[in-house]
Amino acid sequence: MARPKRKRLIQSPPTVEGFRPFGVPVGNLEPVVLLYEEYEALRLMDYENMKQEDAAKEMSVSRPTFTRVYRKARVSIAKALVEGKAIFIDGGNFHATDFWYRCEDCFRLNMGEKAVKYCFYCSSPALKRLDQNE
Ligand SMILES: [Zn+2]
Repeated sequence: MARPKRKRLIQSPPTVEGFRPFGVPVGNLEPVVLLYEEYEALRLMDYENMKQEDAAKEMSVSRPTFTRVYRKARVSIAKALVEGKAIFIDGGNFHATDFWYRCEDCFRLNMGEKAVKYCFYCSSPALKRLDQNE
């Protein structure tokens, strides 16, 4: 039986749900999906400028797993840039140590150590949980 994939630890959720290119009618947009752990791998390597070994530790995965996730992230981003596709940051196999929500009214991220029922910014109850994935 295959060993279940270990969940990758992510420090914080992406600030936006995705990106879309200029000059392409919205109806023709085909998205590339970037998983949360792929976003995190890019963030650690190319934004935080970490070494792969340290980034792998940060995400609680082996170095080969990290390399695979990071490579897939770069391929997806390159594909979106070259082919003019939108990028959706969604899903994946990850866990977090705190609670993340996106407010469906003001679209801001709400993060904290405890579960919340209302948006910190606009008090809306329309919060979508982001730190869990099925
Ligand atoms: Zn809100």
